[in-house]
This record gives sequence, structure tokens and C-alpha cells, in this order.
Amino acid sequence: MSSEELLDGVAREVVVCVKCRLWKSRKNAVPGAGNPEGRVLLIGEAPGQSEDIEGKPFVGAAGRLLDNLLSDIGLSRANVFITNVVKCRPPRNRDPQPNEIDTCTPYLNRQIAILQPKFIVTLGRHSTAYVFSKAGLPFQSITQTHGKIHETRLWGMDITIFPTFHPAATLYSAKYKGQLAIDFQKMRNELLKRGLVPSSVQ
Ligand code: URA
Ligand code: SF4
Repeated sequence: MSSEELLDGVAREVVVCVKCRLWKSRKNAVPGAGNPEGRVLLIGEAPGQSEDIEGKPFVGAAGRLLDNLLSDIGLSRANVFITNVVKCRPPRNRDPQPNEIDTCTPYLNRQIAILQPKFIVTLGRHSTAYVFSKAGLPFQSITQTHGKIHETRLWGMDITIFPTFHPAATLYSAKYKGQLAIDFQKMRNELLKRGLVPSSVQ
């Protein structure tokens, strides 16, 4: 089976999942979307209101910012895969709770095993904390960690982790928005070094 078919299989399970209480308040679960062969994976936190309505990741204000950041470095959603730590919207966008993260991340782990990413961008605290814990890396805060490269062995693969801010957290802060844009430029350099920017956009 192709990666696309395998990812579709995970998505079909996610959209009917009732494993944690978040299913009760969701309109739609959001499995993730993008290029199944992209080798670059972006992981956010959890769907927000627009994502819950549409069933797609990063389609609200944070998503528009993410699209701009990607296009500023010559990429688009067609080059990457985007998903979240938790696939259903927490009520009133509260933080996902540890038991919800524990219950939902087997889906993320399966997506990672299928995608075999070479480069994982963790957007924000929850996603960074989760991936760092899997890699056995200490995580203190996103302000200390953002923009730094970590070459790791994760899920049996060589994977570069690149943490940065969550786009939604920067929407109302010019300072963090600027730092996020700087991180994306760094990310472009790191992707270029690894041959992970498609030649059409180099
Ligand atoms: N914020 C996230 O973390 N994920 C989304 O899909 C949208 C907003
Ligand atoms: Fe299932 Fe994850 Fe949704 Fe909880 S958040 S119901 S575990 S898909």
C-alpha cells in the first residue's frame, strides 16, 4: 500500500474515534493533511474552531500566518505534511490534557511511521514537549528551545527536530511574530542543507 493509502487508513479511524472525551464536543476530528512523500512534517497542538468546522488543519488565522511563513521560504502545503498532537478540538481551545495527549498520540506515532519524516517542525510548547520526550531530550520552554536544531534518533529513524513558536501564539505579538519568521528562515537553510527543499523552489 502507498503512504497515501496508509495515511487515509489512519484518518478514517481518527474521524470516528471516541477514545478520549474530546470526541463529545468536536464537530469534526482533524487527522492532518499534506504531501505523503514530503519528508517534512509540521506538528501543531490541536484543532481550533475553524479546523473543527472544516476538518482540516491550520485553516483559521494561525493557518493563514503559517501559509505566509511557508511561502516566504519558498514552500507550500504541497511540500509538507501538517498535523497536530491531538486530533480533536479541546473545548474553548483549552490546553490538551495529559491523558488526552496519551490517548491520541498513537495516531500521530502511526502517521510518523508511515511518513518517515527527515525533518519535524514542532509548533509550540505541546508539540515540542511531546517530541522531545520521545527523543529523550530535556525540554524547558519554547522561548529557550526555539530555532535550535536537534539531530535525533526517533522511532528508529534519523530525524532532525526543529522547534519553533506556535503561529497562533504570535498573532498578537510583533516580537514573537518576527522571531517566528527568523526561525522559518533558519529552517529553510537547514532544509536546503539536507536537500529537503524541492529543486523547483530553490
Ligand atoms: N492550531 C493548531 O495547533 N492546529 C491547528 O490545526 C490549528 C490551530
Ligand atoms: Fe480520539 Fe484523539 Fe479525538 Fe480523543 S482527540 S477522540 S483520542 S481522535
